[in-house]
Amino acid sequence: MSTLRQDPTTRAWTIVAPRRAARPHFAVIVRAPDQPEHDPNCPFCPGNESMTPPEVHRISNGAGWHVRVVGNLYPALGGDGAADGNGSGLFRERPGVGTHEVIIESPRHNARLDEMSVEDVGAVLLAWRERYRDLEGREETGAVVVFKNAGPMAGTSLNHPHSQVVATPVIPPEVLRRFEVAKDYFEGTGRRLYDDLILSERTAGERVLEERGTFVAFVPFAAPGPFETWIAPTAPQPSFAQLRDPDIPDLAWLLKRTLRAVRLTNDDPDFNVVVASAPAGQEAGSWFSWHIKVLPRLTTAAGFELGSGMSINPVPPETAASEMREVLREDALA
Ligand SMILES: [Zn+2]
Repeated sequence: MSTLRQDPTTRAWTIVAPRRAARPHFAVIVRAPDQPEHDPNCPFCPGNESMTPPEVHRISNGAGWHVRVVGNLYPALGGDGAADGNGSGLFRERPGVGTHEVIIESPRHNARLDEMSVEDVGAVLLAWRERYRDLEGREETGAVVVFKNAGPMAGTSLNHPHSQVVATPVIPPEVLRRFEVAKDYFEGTGRRLYDDLILSERTAGERVLEERGTFVAFVPFAAPGPFETWIAPTAPQPSFAQLRDPDIPDLAWLLKRTLRAVRLTNDDPDFNVVVASAPAGQEAGSWFSWHIKVLPRLTTAAGFELGSGMSINPVPPETAASEMREVLREDALA
């Protein structure tokens, strides 16, 4: 029988409906052909720097670069100007002021976060945080969303490893909802939701993947999708801007291992990574905590999901966590 589970951070319900079919159980995974280490036609490969919009940030590596941040060639939001709304009545509208950047994660065309060194993954996380801090501080910014799309099912067909950051002039509904749910919880109980959530997951134990330093990776109790995994600081910090330099290696270690586990349990699926953080300027909102979500694209939202806002997860989170722990025990690269 299926069960309904509620995510305490969004109050959204998920139907956990284990499927009996043997694996591979979900989306057809179309394997991309092996990529070369350097592709002369790739705009993100070294030597082609002039093919991208201007560079806004780089982490150098001797004469070359390690991580490079450039404007998005097709920005969703961009340009200067007043962020004020106009329009009227039921036709509200405002200029698409904001920023959309691409973080090129490695000079190597065929690099992957789950195969990189922990130091190299750390450089990517550092670039995420640096861009987050800069964009968050701008007057017009309502929130900063950091994310990664890997593979066509996840929204990209560009092979060169990259992630993105978008600064929006409004607070997106998901960002606002998580923040307000945590605030409600704090006002109602005097306790911080993410303290209680992490304590509860640690006590239950069965969904925890691993802990490292001041971070924990776990498959949440009400994970909307199969193998969805969160990485959260064990001492909650409201904003991703507050990620401290000395903590980056531990976070990089856990992210790499989590991606490795997702890959090995599911035949290398496409995936997204998103950073859930507080709205801009809410570092003092101590009832909230940023966290990273790793989202393998193993199912497709169909009519029921679109019509209900509920998800159906065919893999119980306990099963997913157990399988991921097992592959990590056996994998030498991780
Ligand atoms: Zn490339």
